[in-house]
Amino acid sequence: MDLSRLCIHTITTKPWPIETAIERFSAHGVAAMTVWRDALEGRDITAAGRQIRDAGMEVVSLCRGGFFPGETESARQEALDDNRRAIDEAAALGAPLVVLVCGAVPGQPLDAGRSQIRDGIEAVLTHSEAAGVKLGVEPLHPMYADSRSAVNTMAQANDICAGIDSPYVGVVVDVYHLWWDPELEREIGRCGQMGKMFAFHVCDWRTPTEDLLLDRGLMGEGCIDIRQIRGWVEEAGFDGYNEVEIFSNRYWAMDQEQFLERVVEAYTNHA
Ligand code: ZN
Repeated sequence: MDLSRLCIHTITTKPWPIETAIERFSAHGVAAMTVWRDALEGRDITAAGRQIRDAGMEVVSLCRGGFFPGETESARQEALDDNRRAIDEAAALGAPLVVLVCGAVPGQPLDAGRSQIRDGIEAVLTHSEAAGVKLGVEPLHPMYADSRSAVNTMAQANDICAGIDSPYVGVVVDVYHLWWDPELEREIGRCGQMGKMFAFHVCDWRTPTEDLLLDRGLMGEGCIDIRQIRGWVEEAGFDGYNEVEIFSNRYWAMDQEQFLERVVEAYTNHA
């Protein structure tokens, strides 16, 4: 059982406080963690990062920043402030990357949203460079194009990153969002050539999916060929972690220790 590239997101075992997640992930031999900001509420962020490293794990990223589009100048400004805070939190935690769920405003044309996203990333770039924290554009499945992200394909994420052309801005590949895309293999290759593959997230797509947000599956219980996509990502030069990111009401309702055992087993057999 090779867990040397297994990273788990704190949101995957959301009912656990971060202290429990650190202790239990480490006990199971998990190599790394991605931390969601809600898990840090009320904590000393620097101390939380130290606790993760003391438990023998690496901090891969902080989730999440983004949500750049807004109907008003002040809404867009507020988003920039929040992204700067996310960058500061990542620096305190010792996370080299902030994952961006880029945002969308219902009714706003998607291309306008994408241009506000690009402007937003460029506006916080100096802050990100000064903090030494990179920004990862995560394309989201088109079912979220109304309200969560106007960036819905790998090609769109690649285009944004190519346009900004900073070593601090790259792409986060999540199989849940991208598995259906006929251009995926080619665009993953292009991302690799640009040197902009920053992170790789895994879970599975259940049939039927009963909740658009909170019914992600464990690896192996859905229709995504995770190993094929992982192969493309690795051929493109990515050698980072495989991050298990599962939001699921059904799994959050389970005993989290038993669920963690299933995560490790599903990772070993299907990712
Ligand atoms: Zn993801």
